[in-house]
Amino acid sequence: MGIKNPKIMLDDHDYRLYRKLPGKTVWLCSHYYINEKEFRCKNRIETSGRVAYVKGIHNHQPRPRKDKYKNMLSQMVTIVRQP
Ligand SMILES: [Zn+2]
Repeated sequence: MGIKNPKIMLDDHDYRLYRKLPGKTVWLCSHYYINEKEFRCKNRIETSGRVAYVKGIHNHQPRPRKDKYKNMLSQMVTIVRQP
């Protein structure tokens, strides 16, 4: 079994799987994938085991959604915020 479009949700922001590397997985804010390059959000999460490193700041507001907990698996992780 597999999850087709893995995502992370944190603080009402969505992150999409960008790349799996040995020992860590990189997730980029969904606002990285917009067409206008200069407005791309640079916030990212790198997960390693059960630790999630949050890097950078968002250049946009979060987008709260009612359905955010539907079809979601939750995991306990340690969140480390880095500038
Ligand atoms: Zn963002």
